[in-house]
Amino acid sequence: MASKIVGEVLDANAKYAASFGSKGELALPPARGFAILTCMDARLDPAKYAGLAEGDAHVIRNAGGRASDDAIRSLVISHKLLGTKEWFVIHHTNCGMELFCDEVMGDLLADNLATASLDMATLKWSNPQHGGGCAAGHFIKWHTIKSQEESVLQDVQRIREHPLAPKNVPIYGYIYDVKTGRLNEVTKATEAGRTS
Ligand SMILES: [Zn+2]
Repeated sequence: MASKIVGEVLDANAKYAASFGSKGELALPPARGFAILTCMDARLDPAKYAGLAEGDAHVIRNAGGRASDDAIRSLVISHKLLGTKEWFVIHHTNCGMELFCDEVMGDLLADNLATASLDMATLKWSNPQHGGGCAAGHFIKWHTIKSQEESVLQDVQRIREHPLAPKNVPIYGYIYDVKTGRLNEVTKATEAGRTS
């Protein structure tokens, strides 16, 4: 059975490619020399909220926009090989990463792998099906979030303190508000991300 989504994606891509124009000539290094680390949340579109066109900047995304080892790997490549000179860490309000902790995720996965459901009244997760789970979830650090202000600060600090992060690259901390589309600075984080 053909996937409806695959059809939709390929149709959209055909239209995009038809008006691709001179974008085939873009250089590999980001023209505006910066990188954004942000959450994968479907409501966030960094190209729109930060005014990016193709070729402008690096956007590194994961669940929460956390400074995981792999996010740092990307940032180091972004500067060392592709010349970015300023980095943003942008988390957001109403992030799904605030809705569970490692133990909850481990327990849900150990029971069953199908999509769990969240009771909005109690904010408790439960599995609609049981059985066939896997214990591996208990051995992963999921990088969940208790407070966005704290997580932005923690991630900026972690990147700042990383031995491979160049000291002359400023790191700015922001929270994107999903209700307004605004970026609000986390002053403490930006201060922690200062150059030296
Ligand atoms: Zn999120």
